[in-house]
Amino acid sequence: MVEIPLDSILSPTPAGFRSGFVALVGRPNVGKSTLLNQLVGEKVAITSPVAQTTRNRLRAILTTECSQLVLVDTPGIHKPHHLLGERLVKTARNSIGEVDVVLALMDGSEPMGRGDQFVLDLLQSIRQPVVIGLNKQDMIAEEQREELIASYSEALPEAPLLPFSALTGDGCSALVEALGERLPEGPMLYPKDTVSDQPENLLLGELIREQVLHHTREEVPHSVAVQIERVVEDGPRTAILATVMVERSSQKGILIGRKGSMLKEIGSGARLQMQKLIDGPVYLELFVKVVPHWRQKPGRLAELGYRGE
Ligand code: GDP
Ligand code: MG
Repeated sequence: MVEIPLDSILSPTPAGFRSGFVALVGRPNVGKSTLLNQLVGEKVAITSPVAQTTRNRLRAILTTECSQLVLVDTPGIHKPHHLLGERLVKTARNSIGEVDVVLALMDGSEPMGRGDQFVLDLLQSIRQPVVIGLNKQDMIAEEQREELIASYSEALPEAPLLPFSALTGDGCSALVEALGERLPEGPMLYPKDTVSDQPENLLLGELIREQVLHHTREEVPHSVAVQIERVVEDGPRTAILATVMVERSSQKGILIGRKGSMLKEIGSGARLQMQKLIDGPVYLELFVKVVPHWRQKPGRLAELGYRGE
């Protein structure tokens, strides 16, 4: 499971607040990434894709006045062709795991296909509440919309059906409200300004730092810090942009090496580790920056995730 940071437990939560995990289920291209960006804002274009566990990938955290939604991806459920029958239902249940609500995202600009039907059938056997989000409503005419809504509500009659557009934002707040209402009462699981899983970024940073220490030994000692600037999903690939900070320019020289050879080695070592963690291809871009005395700058430290002390 995802670790719950201590400071969120210590901060008071309004009465009646609801919080929990929302599984995002949807075929590729239905608009998952677009929705996350729309909901959580530009920062979550850093859709932090790494998982502590490979079962549920944490995607984004959305905090409103009355609820906190932790959106997780559930790999497997939208790949019906890979598995059959009982085994599929079991896999789906497992991959939905301990989430509180399921958001089934559909491309509402196209007729319902067999794949969609399959996913909906599957969701019938799941004990958690399901909300169906019909995306891309900006693309279709009123008539067409009614037809689509009719076919979807037949497929899973108990689930509320919410037409929206991840692109324009229309209908998104109703979607969030419908999800929030179905979460159990509970405190914030993350500080309210968190939009993605910070510990994951720390972990990625640690993988780079490990390679720096491994390749440079004592020459670049502990005065090195890594900041993950961006983590962006780019199709199947995850692009990661990171800055390695050192205190002196001589250290920068060592890290970069002759014609960039050292940095290349560090980068490819870290990339291999990251690929294991993310379980997919990674593109890693590293920069080296001299930040004199970064260790004495409290703002810098907080940015890097070193809190307290
Ligand atoms: P994902 O694979 O589920 O993450 O889907 P993406 O978010 O990458 O979206 C796939 C494509 O659909 C992209 O070209 C998006 O711009 C487009 N798209 C997503 N949501 C909408 C929407 O509400 N309206 C329209 N017109 N296009 C959308
Ligand atoms: Mg995507």
